[in-house]
Amino acid sequence: MLVNAKDMLDKARDGRYAVGQFNINNLEWTKAILLTAQEQQSPVILGVSEGAGKYMAGFKTVAQMVKAMIEELNITVPVALHLDHGTYEGCYKCIEAGFSSIMFDGSHYPIEENVAKTKELVEVCAQKGLSLEAEVGSIGGEEDGVIGMGECADPNECKAIADLGVDMLAAGIGNIHGKYPANWPGLSFETLAAVKEKTGDMPLVLHGGTGIPEDMIKKAISLGVAKINVNTECQLAFADATRKYIEAGKDLAGKGFDPRKLLAPGTEAIKETVRAKMELFGSVGKA
Ligand SMILES: [Zn+2]
Repeated sequence: MLVNAKDMLDKARDGRYAVGQFNINNLEWTKAILLTAQEQQSPVILGVSEGAGKYMAGFKTVAQMVKAMIEELNITVPVALHLDHGTYEGCYKCIEAGFSSIMFDGSHYPIEENVAKTKELVEVCAQKGLSLEAEVGSIGGEEDGVIGMGECADPNECKAIADLGVDMLAAGIGNIHGKYPANWPGLSFETLAAVKEKTGDMPLVLHGGTGIPEDMIKKAISLGVAKINVNTECQLAFADATRKYIEAGKDLAGKGFDPRKLLAPGTEAIKETVRAKMELFGSVGKA
């Protein structure tokens, strides 16, 4: 069932596990993630970037597809449909389209403007029953053409935003979107602990979950991270399985060119990736 992310994240924070946000790109992605969540009895968050929303013919198309799929596939675990790194305008589009959760990424605004816009969205989301994620300290790497440097958030700014009444907070702790470079110094647990200290009960969000070593993921969860975003890892798994299928010449044999066959190995690879992440994050059986 489609719900906002508040309850599932409060439970995750209290239970010391994290709920995975898996970004979707098309029907196969969505179906693979929903079926795996149901099979694993795990709550799940479907992330949609503005670019992916555009690719899928708009946020309305996405919301209708997800709602219909939840119904037709009998998905009973809690599912949140969440705008990932939303612009101010994108947030309003998703609220109108029927998303259950949004992230307002105001990290590139001066803190005063981030505060003002977040405050406004807190009120709108509360009225409409959506959950809201805010970001402080830009997260490194490239996502939809936006490049950040992997800053560490200022814990006082985190408190200022958390106090506005958002439901979850993404704080930069040296994490990066996409693949991590070989010389990456790792997560800043000092920053994470300082943010936790200042923000109290606020469920914290870790972006850029692809390629962070498992022990760091577990430590981050123990320090208050209740939501972890995974995007690149599913993309790599899908591409790898699809390449193997084609390199083996399977698309040339019989009806191997049928898209339902051609996309099947990649879809299975997404399921395996999601399953492994749910186990690592500890969300299996928590629906
Ligand atoms: Zn992100």
